Amino acid sequence: MGALYRKKRPATFDAVVGQEHVKEVLRAAIQKDRLAHAYLFSGPRGVGKTTLARILAMAVGCEAGPEARPCGTCAHCRRVREGTHPDVLEIDAASNNSVEDVRELKERILLAPVLAPKKVIILDEAHMMSKSAFNALLKTLEEPPEHVLFVFATTEPERMPATIQSRTQHFRFRRLSDEEIAARLREVAEEEGLAVEEEALRLLARAAEGAMRDALVLLERVLTLDERPVTRAAVERVLGLPPAEAVAGLLDALLAGEVEGALHRAEALFLEGYAPRTLVRELKSALKERLLERPSDALVAAILALDEADERLAKDESRLGLELALLRAHRALARTGAPVPAPQPAEEAPKAEKAPPPPPPPPLEPERQRPAAAGLDRARWRAFLEALPAPLRAVVREARPEAKGEKLVLRFPARLKFHIERARAEQARLAPVAARALGLGEVEVAVDDGEAEPPPEEDEPGPPEPAPAPPPGKKGLLADPRFQRLKEIFGAELVAYEEEPLSDEK
Ligand SMILES: [Zn+2]
Repeated sequence: MGALYRKKRPATFDAVVGQEHVKEVLRAAIQKDRLAHAYLFSGPRGVGKTTLARILAMAVGCEAGPEARPCGTCAHCRRVREGTHPDVLEIDAASNNSVEDVRELKERILLAPVLAPKKVIILDEAHMMSKSAFNALLKTLEEPPEHVLFVFATTEPERMPATIQSRTQHFRFRRLSDEEIAARLREVAEEEGLAVEEEALRLLARAAEGAMRDALVLLERVLTLDERPVTRAAVERVLGLPPAEAVAGLLDALLAGEVEGALHRAEALFLEGYAPRTLVRELKSALKERLLERPSDALVAAILALDEADERLAKDESRLGLELALLRAHRALARTGAPVPAPQPAEEAPKAEKAPPPPPPPPLEPERQRPAAAGLDRARWRAFLEALPAPLRAVVREARPEAKGEKLVLRFPARLKFHIERARAEQARLAPVAARALGLGEVEVAVDDGEAEPPPEEDEPGPPEPAPAPPPGKKGLLADPRFQRLKEIFGAELVAYEEEPLSDEK
């Protein structure tokens, strides 16, 4: 574990980021001296379970008054912090599973505490305990001695035996938000006198995925670069992420409908060593940011397409997979509406209006407003679509709606597998909206096998769009996606190139 993480580990309730629902109850219990005999802390890794277990251990013997416990600084608190307190046992259940370990644990539980009023036994990764260890503990939990407090910490509470769960007070820890993590990182940087760019903090927070511990470990890794101030570019290098400018360039090309340009940029990044999946994810997260600036069905459709591509890439992370991901995103954009213009560079933006209000979402296209089947009125169908959250609307608008008695039937062409799957998964969310907007209490997702009428737009990844001529010369040929695909499929290499003298290439 990183030194910075250890140094910055909170020693008081106030210093712990988030988990208010846990802290509040524990604080009150400490003040009233009414702690339970056993706690179960569950939740993702790195969100403060063991930290709060230690804070509880500090509070048990803290020399400060009830309101201030734990103080984090008295002799008792200090010993717990340093891991030298004789009455506080922190055991990694995963690696202390032998018969002797269990016997030793039982003996230690029976012994009275030496310094503190209570012994505190913290079992990390508690779900990894052996059956015999659980059985041994169960006897203690059934008739808990006054002098013992257990804290089970686990990432998988469902793997804890029900008999143990029912004898503990269970707290579920939650992931921290990016804002919570960034705020704490900012604090740490200030305390340590480190200059860290705001964008670097935000990127670190995002990469930590809700775990404070990961955020601090990552920050420490970036600090070893010895570059001050710490920039976003430095964080990208350490995390192995492509530069944000490169991702933005790729995204702009895609949004402008420049498929070839997007493919060239993606290829350049691929050759620099960035994994296709990383690129797709960064693209997705850049798209999500644009979506916040400017809600649009086209962006939602592109994100859905990339989501799907991300899943495929999990199985086959190839350059072809990356190209297909971009082509699908491009199709989704083209199908859902006109290409979305990229935001104007800051210096070109009119200075007078600082924050122009986002334009209203584009009106639904006429064909889509008109239900293809009878029984539904156009205005109400439209109201229904507009009442849906944008991602769901992008899915549902591809369906042909039909009213059957009390039921709304959403009929999708069989080829829209992803839409069908999403609509089925979201049926529970669709039903109340359908009830309100259409007066239909039930929603059914149906699949059209023989398509009765031609689809509004073709959707299959058919023949590629006519490509604009690649830039001339050998470089142009090498970068041409068609040549790249030949390379992929046949392992072709460029052996000779005759149109221009080769001298300027070598
Ligand atoms: Zn204390």
